[in-house]
Amino acid sequence: MEIEKLKLKAKDAVESQRRWLIKLSLNIHDNPELGFEEKKAMAWLTGFLEENEFHVERGIAGVSTAFRATYGQGNPRIALLAEYDALPKIGHGCGHNIIASSAVGAAVGSKPIIDQLGGSIVALGTPGEEVFGGKINMVQAGVFNAIDTAMIVHPDVRNLITMPALACTGVEVEFFGKPAHASAEPHKGINALEAMILAFTSINSLRQHIKEEARIHGIITDGGEAPNIVPAHSAAEFYIRAPDNKYLDELQSKVSNCLIGASTASGARLEYRWDDIAFDSMKNNQTLGKLFKQNLEALGRHVVAFKPEFGIGSTDMGNVSQVVPSIHPTIAIASPDVLGHTPEFAAAAASEAGHEGLLDAAKAMAMTVVDILQPGMLDKIKQEFRRD
Ligand SMILES: [Zn+2]
Ligand SMILES: [Zn+2]
Repeated sequence: MEIEKLKLKAKDAVESQRRWLIKLSLNIHDNPELGFEEKKAMAWLTGFLEENEFHVERGIAGVSTAFRATYGQGNPRIALLAEYDALPKIGHGCGHNIIASSAVGAAVGSKPIIDQLGGSIVALGTPGEEVFGGKINMVQAGVFNAIDTAMIVHPDVRNLITMPALACTGVEVEFFGKPAHASAEPHKGINALEAMILAFTSINSLRQHIKEEARIHGIITDGGEAPNIVPAHSAAEFYIRAPDNKYLDELQSKVSNCLIGASTASGARLEYRWDDIAFDSMKNNQTLGKLFKQNLEALGRHVVAFKPEFGIGSTDMGNVSQVVPSIHPTIAIASPDVLGHTPEFAAAAASEAGHEGLLDAAKAMAMTVVDILQPGMLDKIKQEFRRD
């Protein structure tokens, strides 16, 4: 069968890059760079793509470490997304070195397919996922306007095809009170820390009555200067997460009310600023996911269905999935007891299992490119996207 021959070709094309892909992955792993500072990673990834005849544009969408690398001409335009930012102190504890190397591996593996079937592969370097949500800038700058469909694979402890992601935004909160001697004249002070504690207490009460998947979590970053001074200033940061964008709006207004209430009760003046950016929830394209699943299983991987107890985070891929049909599957590189964002997961991201994960992820994506380019398939993917 023609399609099977093409998939074999794609798989072989990825396999032939094994040594370089592992080297890329380890280089990024051993040189962790924080979000929007990923200069080395970008240089290595774009260098690899250029050597493989991709047309590279660096610093797109106003982000110096974002890039676009294109192979082929015309439509459809299939995007493969790379992340390469690390975490403070624990380096690649989220394994983004594997996301990056699998994306460029799939891009290069798709070349013989594009040569035969037409269309374009667009490898997109999407920096600053962890903190800044770099893809949000790229969506806003219109990078995805000319893209038909998008894929990214994240390392994990399980092979999952679809995983929900929560909509998420943050708020910075400050209360301004009045300092006073905490023993001699407490009645003359206004306690900004108590205002913050009231805000936390109100939010804790609210938490009892929010949807199960929603999350509100915060830290106090300023709680006063000394126990004998009534705190004149307090500050905190919260993240608010919700199963969908609409419920996120609703929660934002409820959290705002908790803050306003704490200000009224304490007499401390309130200032709060919601983040300009918000992570959208993930809209998983099931048609595309089914194709990817078949290909991952053909590589001998056992795929499991998502269960709520696996836990849900947020990703800026959610924002991409709202504008183009997308998938964000995961590839197993460690046993299920290993937790994400830990030194143990960082070690897995540079292990044999990590290397096999990156190669399988690249192969499954390149094989899925073959499926997407079959007559009528992209229409089916887009129909589902429009319907939901
Ligand atoms: Zn992460
Ligand atoms: Zn991650």
